[in-house]
Amino acid sequence: MKLASVNVDLDEIPNYFAIHGLTPAGPAMSAVYDRAVARMVDWASAMKLPLTLFTVASDLSRAENRRVIADAARRGHEIASHTLDHRYDLVRLSYADICTQIDDAASLIHAVTGERPRGFRAPGYTFSDEIARVLLETGHAYDSSVFGCPAYYMAKALVMASYSLIGRKSHSIMGEPEVLLAPRTPYRLGTPYWREGQGIPEFPIQVTPRIRMPIIGTNVTLWGEKFARRAAASCADDALFNFELHGIDFLDADDDLEALRAHQPDVRVPRAKKLSALSAVVEELRGQGRSFVRLDEVEARLFP
Ligand SMILES: [Zn+2]
Repeated sequence: MKLASVNVDLDEIPNYFAIHGLTPAGPAMSAVYDRAVARMVDWASAMKLPLTLFTVASDLSRAENRRVIADAARRGHEIASHTLDHRYDLVRLSYADICTQIDDAASLIHAVTGERPRGFRAPGYTFSDEIARVLLETGHAYDSSVFGCPAYYMAKALVMASYSLIGRKSHSIMGEPEVLLAPRTPYRLGTPYWREGQGIPEFPIQVTPRIRMPIIGTNVTLWGEKFARRAAASCADDALFNFELHGIDFLDADDDLEALRAHQPDVRVPRAKKLSALSAVVEELRGQGRSFVRLDEVEARLFP
């Protein structure tokens, strides 16, 4: 049986301000936890699918956020780790600091859900062999950070180069281009991590065969229903469709995100239109005979 997973990175709004070198301020700073999570959980229950939520553990210092996550876990969604502080420069930190970012996140998530997270995703999709080692040492069962997508890599390089030209500091960093050589379907991490090996399972972010166009929430919501369906159809032979979304995919400019409008075209798309594009992908994947499962269940089924 072919599988599909819908997983959401709960990057809170200040992260987006940091990417664009803006000072985080305004009423929307907790919009992901205050608004987006409830909307995505309602959407998931309407679409009858479980979610995997990649949670930035320091966000759990806020009592409202702890309630939101505990409630999502009770409703059957998986709570996975998106590190302690969402440091875009995680790969450049010392071994001890990487351990803190990963192990403390696991403890904080455990305190809220009663379970240590099994899954991990690095901020900004930048990964390293050292991170893989720490994941193994801290009992994580799978990773889902590898994003072997030339278009994304080029776009990110272009944005960062133009920001540095105009003297604006982005907190985002470039990963290694070798990640573009990684398999595009599930594999065990090797050394280096973009080669197949004996490590924990890796579930790469979904890209299309051959040209490796990314099928992630940001693109799908910009494309609209028809094109999104066609992109998903091109992946019909994959054992897993790993559909990565972000909390911001469930928000729009009306959620006090005016400041991001100029920097992120996805923020300009009305929420209802985003939801219909996401739902169209889910319907296309159901038409391919896929069952929707959490990523921890993907791990159990594909790597028994
Ligand atoms: Zn993130």
